[in-house]
Amino acid sequence: MGPLRVAIFVGAGIGVLLALFMSGLAAHLMARTVRDLVDKARAVAAGERAGRLSVHTGDELGGLAGSFNRLADALEGVVSTLAAERDRFQAVLESMREAVIALDAGCQATLVNRTAVDWLRLRGEAVGRTLLELARVPGLQQLADRALDGQTASAELDLPGRPAPRRVLAHAAPLSSGRGCILVLYDVTEIRRLERIRRDFVANVSHELRTPVSIVRANAETLLDGALDDPGSARRFVDGIHRNAERLTRLIGGLLDISRLEAGKYAIAPVAIDLRRAALRTASALGSLAEDKHIQVAIDVPADLRAMADPQALDQILTNLVANALKYTPAGGHVVIAAHRAAPADAPDAATLVRIDVVDDGPGLDPRHRPRIFERFYRVDDGRARAGGASHETGGTGLGLAIVKHLAEAMDGEVGVEAVTPHGSRFWVALPSAPVTDLHAPVTDAALSPPFS
Ligand code: ADP
Repeated sequence: MGPLRVAIFVGAGIGVLLALFMSGLAAHLMARTVRDLVDKARAVAAGERAGRLSVHTGDELGGLAGSFNRLADALEGVVSTLAAERDRFQAVLESMREAVIALDAGCQATLVNRTAVDWLRLRGEAVGRTLLELARVPGLQQLADRALDGQTASAELDLPGRPAPRRVLAHAAPLSSGRGCILVLYDVTEIRRLERIRRDFVANVSHELRTPVSIVRANAETLLDGALDDPGSARRFVDGIHRNAERLTRLIGGLLDISRLEAGKYAIAPVAIDLRRAALRTASALGSLAEDKHIQVAIDVPADLRAMADPQALDQILTNLVANALKYTPAGGHVVIAAHRAAPADAPDAATLVRIDVVDDGPGLDPRHRPRIFERFYRVDDGRARAGGASHETGGTGLGLAIVKHLAEAMDGEVGVEAVTPHGSRFWVALPSAPVTDLHAPVTDAALSPPFS
């Protein structure tokens, strides 16, 4: 073989080896790019934030990588928009004061917001449980069944709860996909309570007004029918008319006070008030009532106590409480007006309140009446109360303590009643205290007898 042939063979061999090496390299690079593409495509399909392919060749593979990168960009944009949308929806749902429960076609919860979890007092994962497992309320299940049949439905029902059931207005509607329904529950407990109070109030007002009006009418008719000519009985009937006209005046006055207070039209202008003087003023204004019943009224109020209160409102509070104490305490009893510094329940170390107590040694209040005694028209109308002088015809209106409570609350205060041993009541009013500025100013009202123990 000539040298030329050898050179040709060697050259051809090298050429073939080079070609093999180059094609192997190209195949390897292409395989790596394709593997990368497959991995990234898998990652994107699995919802991961995959990186981008860096293929800058001008061939089909480069074009495919460019398309993949654009697809991944678009997908990521859609995913983040959906995530933001979902977060917004979740935030709205969780901040809703209504309870929301979404159910699938098999009546299993697919969504339960926080309010629903609270109201139904759910523990553990709520999603995936059936409606009956979430709430044993047949009415709710019936609504869901109707909504799963494609109809919208509403009903008012009670959710079991402590201390009292929760009254809810429930709406059920089918989902637009047709595969499930959504229940939305509104709490109407407070609205229904207020409606009941309003209804009772109207019934009570009508009843309270009707009684004296019918007595006035009956007495006037009796007088017209001839009793006028009998001076002895005429006086009795006119007296009845007078007493009932006065009762009507008191009732209407009380109702006006309450409605002005509730409408915020009772102008309250708190100033620093010397409580000892206020107590003395009330005791002296009601002095004749106390004398008539031989009741000893004592004042136990330090001279340096001041309350931030409206003078007229405080007078009205004290007058109501002391008049009640005098009215319900039998003759020969005792009444004390006392006051001391007190701490608010939420800040026991800060003596920022003053508490005024009106204590009597009368019959006291049965514990079952105490929680309701400050309600409008609530009266303990038993024989014992009447014996104290509060007959239904001539006595109280049942509005006095309601006015006291409203006035105290309008001055950022509180009211309450406690029992006194062996018998009697302690009505109290706590008001914001005020600094003492005129401690040495003379107290003009006469000092009264010392407190009883
Ligand atoms: P009234 O005009 O009937 O006195 P109030 O609202 O002032 O209305 O009082 C409501 C009820 O509270 C009274 O009917 C009475 O039964 C009871 N009550 C108020 N104060 C006393 C007291 N010091 N001792 C016993 N019972 C009282």
